[in-house]
Amino acid sequence: AMARKPLVAGNWKMNGNPTLVREMGDALNKLDTDAMNVVVCPPSCFLPLFANTSFATAGQDVSANEEGAHTGDIAASMLRDLGCKYVIVGHSERRQDHGESSQLVANKAKRALSEGLVPIICVGEPLEVRESEKEQEYVEQQLLPVFETLSKQELSQCVVAYEPIWAIGTGKTASPEQAQQMHAFIRSKLAEQDSVIAEGTRLLYGGSVKPDNARELFAQKDIDGGLIGGASLKTDSFIAICQATQ
Ligand code: PEP
Repeated sequence: AMARKPLVAGNWKMNGNPTLVREMGDALNKLDTDAMNVVVCPPSCFLPLFANTSFATAGQDVSANEEGAHTGDIAASMLRDLGCKYVIVGHSERRQDHGESSQLVANKAKRALSEGLVPIICVGEPLEVRESEKEQEYVEQQLLPVFETLSKQELSQCVVAYEPIWAIGTGKTASPEQAQQMHAFIRSKLAEQDSVIAEGTRLLYGGSVKPDNARELFAQKDIDGGLIGGASLKTDSFIAICQATQ
């Protein structure tokens, strides 16, 4: 919306293979990507297979540490060396499966920024929080460590993705009104930090975005694109969602 360039990121999670890399690469390279930022977030082992693309790539996670004895983790500098421009931090599956706290997520974002990567910081409430109408408080608590840990300069480089957990992989999308309301809230919290940063920050919606609901979501004033899970694994669906930003 407004002067912010739309961004659509496809989070493959632990899916895909070299064939999908090739198919998606060929399909996306034909897309006119001037009007939007298109980002593919494959499992990190596939990142080297994405060479010379007209779109960007991202890691799905990054270590908060610079280097060293952290078996299984990936450093921000390594993602950068593999050509990534972005990295997802704090996806709800990382928070759930790996017990990541909001402070750790903020530290990961800071580490990513120090290597020149744009963090896509994920927030979003579980169903029971939505049912008790405490979703704004919940998301605000997730954002506080980000505000406390990052400088204004760093904050100005970030992307924030709102992904209500009850909408992820469930086929149950937040209504455009529900999503817009939370996006406006997140932007108001950013504005309390800095009004210029708030106007410039891309806020993505994630949670069962499909070709048939993307356009209405992306038309909302404070929704600047999407973080796409399941539908990012099919070239036709992902391209249709990218085009729905226009
Ligand atoms: C996600 O996990 O980031 C996501 C939005 O998944 P899905 O689109 O499959 O709901």
